[in-house]
Amino acid sequence: MSNNLPLFIDGEFVESASNESLPVTNPATQEVLCDVPYATTQEIERAVASAAVAFETWRDVPISERARLMLKFQELLKGHQDDLAKTLSLETGKTFADAQGDVWRGIEVVEHAANIASLMMGETVGNVARGIDTYSYTQPLGVCAGITPFNFPAMIPLWMFPLAIATGNTFVLKPSEQDPMTPNQLAELFVEAGAPKGVLQILHGGATQVDALLTHPGIKAISFVGSVPVARHVYRTATEHLKRVQALAGAKNHMVIMPDANKNQTINSLLGASCGAAGQRCMAISVAVFVGGAAAWIPELRDAMADVHPGPWDSPDAAYGPQITPAARDRVLGFIETGKQEGATCLLDGSDCAVDGYPDGNWVGPTLFSNVTPDMHIYQEEIFGPVLITSEVDSLDEAIAMINANAYGNGTSIFTSSGAAARRFQHEIEVGQVGINVPIPVPLPFFSFTGWKQSFLGDQHVYGKQGVRFYTETKTVTARWFDDDATGGPNMTIRVQ
Ligand code: NAD
Repeated sequence: MSNNLPLFIDGEFVESASNESLPVTNPATQEVLCDVPYATTQEIERAVASAAVAFETWRDVPISERARLMLKFQELLKGHQDDLAKTLSLETGKTFADAQGDVWRGIEVVEHAANIASLMMGETVGNVARGIDTYSYTQPLGVCAGITPFNFPAMIPLWMFPLAIATGNTFVLKPSEQDPMTPNQLAELFVEAGAPKGVLQILHGGATQVDALLTHPGIKAISFVGSVPVARHVYRTATEHLKRVQALAGAKNHMVIMPDANKNQTINSLLGASCGAAGQRCMAISVAVFVGGAAAWIPELRDAMADVHPGPWDSPDAAYGPQITPAARDRVLGFIETGKQEGATCLLDGSDCAVDGYPDGNWVGPTLFSNVTPDMHIYQEEIFGPVLITSEVDSLDEAIAMINANAYGNGTSIFTSSGAAARRFQHEIEVGQVGINVPIPVPLPFFSFTGWKQSFLGDQHVYGKQGVRFYTETKTVTARWFDDDATGGPNMTIRVQ
């Protein structure tokens, strides 16, 4: 019997006819959980065509009914949070608590989407001229598509399809081929919530399937989350094919530590923000910038990091899990080697990490570098592992200049007890999401997720008001109604005043 994960096309879970597939493995053991098929051209065509047909009726479903679908969906997600988290843990290696968080942050977006009527409201101005009113309202675009990365297989699909569908669009999701089981489970619950046939489709696969969506004439908008090179490719290709695009990309997030910060809080926050989820978070802190005397805390940070250990998802002692694949682990180990060769001081080396009972896991232990300078590869590139690099500067000005010169702009934070320092940092820093004594400042869904610079390509960010704008067009109507006895001749001029 086939071990293939089904596609979700035209309201049904179907076996793919493809003869190309990839094993999905448990990153702690290499056990094969299923095979993920690479959807065929015909399957892609069928999914987009079905989404186009569904759009014709879904766009006119009353907004309160669309909102009710989201209410039911969030209720089911909450009821199945632990089942989802277990699947997610198995295929990503995340600890159970972290997997529950992944699902929870997605549920919050569904709750937000349930408020869609107020979010889609337009504007009205009466009497823009004598007897004339102008009003605007928003309408859905059509078939939209989403392409998601491996590191949040519940949260990131939920950043996309609930808002797209609540606004009246239909949606084709291409999840990461590395952990595609969780998205299928989301679709099962969406069906149970009452989603009509065709409003959501799931096509599995890799680059070829993505390219087919980016160039497909039936797709109006592309929401992408992934690495910088792929984000650039997606942005260029899809905009060239006249699609609306939001492409969220990689990051290098700095935390600034002022000498007046609370030392305990700072060290604890640094541990979680750098090693949590094995450093595989786009908002992970990967650079700690110590200002002045705060650098004296580095040995204490090292000792605390040495006490952090990875482990399997169901171990209560595991602080974090394995890297997603052996290749991802080797990439991180390569960076650790590069750091040493570049002359940085490796204060804690996680290269040779073993976990009892799990000899085949993709483990990397916590790793800490000091004496890192901005010209080094380990500073310039996203490592995406439990590797923290430290840098020492004399002043807040220097810290701000260093961060502003960095190509990425996803998130940053400052730890301090000075309101004046925090205010200056918040104002002058060229990064889109700022934490003040908060290490990972991911905004809740009534705001938007606002990465800057190389970390984001596009105009409208995901979720919040900007997410609603991304999935809708604004129509502006200027209206005049004549009384039956109204008189007047032809008007040949454009009014200038
Ligand atoms: P990735 O870029 O390798 O893959 C992302 C998606 O693109 C997957 O669905 C994959 O199948 C597809 N893809 C891969 N190569 C492709 C190609 N050549 N052409 C077309 N499509 C292709 O990313 P990943 O390794 O799955 O995820 C980790 C990356 O995502 C990190 O860089 C991380 O910072 C980033 N990320 C960013 C955010 C954010 O909010 N900015 C959030 C999460 C993850």
